[in-house]
Amino acid sequence: MSDRPQERKEIVLRGVPASAGIAVAPAVLMASEQEHYPEREISEEEIPREIARFEEALINTRDQLHEIERRVSEAIGEENAGIFDAHLLVVDDRSFVEGVIEGLHRDRRNVEAVLMRVAEKYAQALAAVDDDYLRERAVDVRDVARRIARNLAGISVGGLESVAEPCIVVAHDLAPSDTATMPRDKVAGFVTDLGSMTSHTAIMARALAIPAVVGLRDVSVRVNPGDMVLVDGGRGLVIVNPTAARLQEYDRRAETERSIRQQLAGLRGEPAVTTDGKRVGLMANIELPADVELVLENGAEGIGLFRTEFLYVGRSSWPSEDEQVEVYEEVARRVAPNPVVIRTLDLGGDKFVSHMKAPEEANPFMGWRAIRFCLAQPEIFKVQIRAILRASRLGNIRMMYPMVSNLEELLQANRILQQEMKSLAEREVEFNRNVDVGIMIEVPSAALIADILAPHAAFFSLGTNDLVQYTLAVDRINEKVAYLYEPAHPALIRLIQNTVQTGHRHRIQVGICGEMGGNPLMVPLLLGLGIDHFSVSPTLLPLVKRAVRSVGYTQSVELVKKALQAATASEVTEMCYELIRKSAPELLDLVS
Ligand code: PEP
Ligand code: MG
Repeated sequence: MSDRPQERKEIVLRGVPASAGIAVAPAVLMASEQEHYPEREISEEEIPREIARFEEALINTRDQLHEIERRVSEAIGEENAGIFDAHLLVVDDRSFVEGVIEGLHRDRRNVEAVLMRVAEKYAQALAAVDDDYLRERAVDVRDVARRIARNLAGISVGGLESVAEPCIVVAHDLAPSDTATMPRDKVAGFVTDLGSMTSHTAIMARALAIPAVVGLRDVSVRVNPGDMVLVDGGRGLVIVNPTAARLQEYDRRAETERSIRQQLAGLRGEPAVTTDGKRVGLMANIELPADVELVLENGAEGIGLFRTEFLYVGRSSWPSEDEQVEVYEEVARRVAPNPVVIRTLDLGGDKFVSHMKAPEEANPFMGWRAIRFCLAQPEIFKVQIRAILRASRLGNIRMMYPMVSNLEELLQANRILQQEMKSLAEREVEFNRNVDVGIMIEVPSAALIADILAPHAAFFSLGTNDLVQYTLAVDRINEKVAYLYEPAHPALIRLIQNTVQTGHRHRIQVGICGEMGGNPLMVPLLLGLGIDHFSVSPTLLPLVKRAVRSVGYTQSVELVKKALQAATASEVTEMCYELIRKSAPELLDLVS
């Protein structure tokens, strides 16, 4: 029964294109920390394969239980290892095992779903019996079922170090910190059930140049450990067990992509200037100091967004002032004389720190995050402000606040900044007294009161990842509503236009650091709206530069005029697509 069918059928899955690039490798499954087992329908032909997976998982579970039993009895005595005997009885219980196999035939669902259902029924029946011993066995059944399910899912989070060959990581979800610590030489790509283009896991994948597709809904139960998986990150496609013809087709595609990227790399020393001479700034976003390597490689004119959250996550205490100064100075020195915009802490949303004990929130993106968190925790905020100020002595550091939604927040943050400047000055600590302090425009209210905020800010930076989610009421990490997440929505174009025009009236520069700016299709639209500088993921920089250099500014202004007449996002997208198709068609091979 454990013989798997030799020829596995090719399956094509479509998700959200998170990070471009093509990768093919065997799948490694990462178990979900939340013990979540997605459910899907299976066909009759898939039943033998599901049974084979189940039997393999039973064998592994039995081996693990024997091993645990041995270790427990060595450590604390045989009598305490008895509980695992009870667990072994469940694994060997024919009626339980047959119940699952019958369930597969009857329910036509993947084995994880059937297993959990059968186990729960079994456990409930035991719990209802008037016998203490049997009632206790209900707990064992649930425990064992979870262990079997974990074995079905594959390895657990953090086990990647033991993987010998490059693999494709398949997971229900990944935290940004999982993505950040993935061994780059072993992970050729990753695919997840959850997530969207602007979830921080996707942003990390782009920063690390790992091909990735997210928001696939049930990929973690469609792929078996060891299945060959092809990830087409640019188009958002995942092909499980690709045929020989498909692999050949992708060999050709990968070759085309390589040659286009090589051509684009030739633009490294060229300025980002339109065909009719309008120059814009082109900078990069970084998550980690190590990303500076890619920033320099891709010829960015500085760092337009240094997300500092990654200094805070994955550790058991807050980073000290000195530690932060060291990091900020290192980054600033490496990109000097170009500028670095350090964004103050933007915790919350999908970015958490383990020691924070943050209260559970029903709507974390609309909750206690970013500047709200910092103003409520001034001691944490002040440490960061002092560190940024001390590093600012190098001369090329700027600072910005995330998620400002009203004037009071901005004034309050600036007051704290003034206090810290005063205290550093009193202690005769060196810093730049004229450091530029700007704000992110990523909440619709801020875009609408840009005129009220502008006198208190040195620059605006459009955070479209959040601006889109708040304007359109679309959770940026929820794959179920990803189809509504439309940066080209007419409402967004109007908000961006208002922000840019207002900024310029107040003589401050307006840049974009959200992912919209890294999409070459959107570049002419943003140029026409008057954006002064783009800050994008380093690997997208050559694509954006090519898009800028392929169009005229006048042409972009014309595009904006037409886009402002459009009624829907798809009309706008179509116009943008047409313009790039005419001016830089090779870019279409690199984006979905
Ligand atoms: C944004 O919201 O566009 C942005 C750049 O910030 P983050 O993605 O870190 O929320
Ligand atoms: Mg944001």
